[in-house]
Amino acid sequence: MTDNNNFDVIIIGGSYAGLSSAMALGRSLRNVLIIDNGQPCNIQTPHSHNFLTQDGKTPKEISNLAKQEVEKYETVKFYKGLAKSGVKTENGFEITTDTNDKFTAKKLIFATGIKDTMPDIKGFSECWGISIIHCPYCHGYEHRYQNTGIIANGQKAFHLASMVNNLSDKVTILTNGKADFSSEQLEKLNNHNIKIFETKISEIEHKNGQLENLIFKDGNKIPFDVAYGAIPFTQHSDIPVSLGCELTEQGYIKIVAFQKTTIPNIYVCGDNSNMMRSVANAVSSGNIAGAVANGELVQEQF
Ligand SMILES: Cc1cc2nc3c(=O)[nH]c(=O)nc-3n(C[C@H](O)[C@H](O)[C@H](O)COP(=O)(O)OP(=O)(O)OC[C@H]3O[C@@H](n4cnc5c(N)ncnc54)[C@H](O)[C@@H]3O)c2cc1C
Repeated sequence: MTDNNNFDVIIIGGSYAGLSSAMALGRSLRNVLIIDNGQPCNIQTPHSHNFLTQDGKTPKEISNLAKQEVEKYETVKFYKGLAKSGVKTENGFEITTDTNDKFTAKKLIFATGIKDTMPDIKGFSECWGISIIHCPYCHGYEHRYQNTGIIANGQKAFHLASMVNNLSDKVTILTNGKADFSSEQLEKLNNHNIKIFETKISEIEHKNGQLENLIFKDGNKIPFDVAYGAIPFTQHSDIPVSLGCELTEQGYIKIVAFQKTTIPNIYVCGDNSNMMRSVANAVSSGNIAGAVANGELVQEQF
């Protein structure tokens, strides 16, 4: 924590994206506060993949190492808690936390991530990130050749099926209701021997998050090793929108250029503004956000 409540930049969210932007700012001797309440989206995942030098480490190992590196920069401070609200002030912004602490800064970086909305299927949330996965790049290799379900419908299911087809020849799409595919999509799925199952899913049987069977409303039970889930999300923090930041049609915070939002002096990075959801992208966009915030401070002050 800190005695001084006024900063050059407040970063809300201290996972991969936020820590990456803090490193760029700390290395430029900017006074930075990172506010984080420790709820990253991959918290339940046993191993993280596809990030060079850290492939197969636990999500926590990667973020702990990142935090240790950022802590070395003496102008970067940490606050554990939830940023509850934000207002525009004469010189920038004021952020209030859930315990009513108040901090001000010239600029804000939101690295707040997104919150996945679990479907109303018993067992789904317990398996999320363990044996129900969101991305073939992150976990597909570990589940190659396995009996694979895709719990999704329409274009999302078609896209996932086309990607997973390269990793397994045992793929079934589970639309959990009436299938919604064009005749061209149906023909391609059929040509690749990808089955479609429309019956509603009532439960996912699992052992400690490891999927065993899908149980359907008609009583049918089918074993699977792994399933992909394309599920909706909401923004983790509503402060950016309350400050006027626009969202895209898909629900991401709109970027006008170089991680800048539609509101001057507010920047975003990581999952909240990027559909390419990965640790590598969070780190990359965080690095850009930090550099751009610093670059604008330089322009204002030099
Ligand atoms: C189940 C699952 C498994 C995944 N596996 C992989 C993988 O193997 N490899 C890979 O590359 N990617 C993986 N990903 C994607 C990767 O985890 C994300 O892309 C990455 O975590 C995004 O980083 P971020 O910093 O943007 O957001 P997050 O890591 O989600 O962090 C956001 C942080 O902001 C904090 N926060 C939010 N709002 C507030 C607030 N108001 N006040 C204070 N703090 C706040 C949260 O507590 C959290 O700590 C996975 C994702 C999921 C869901």
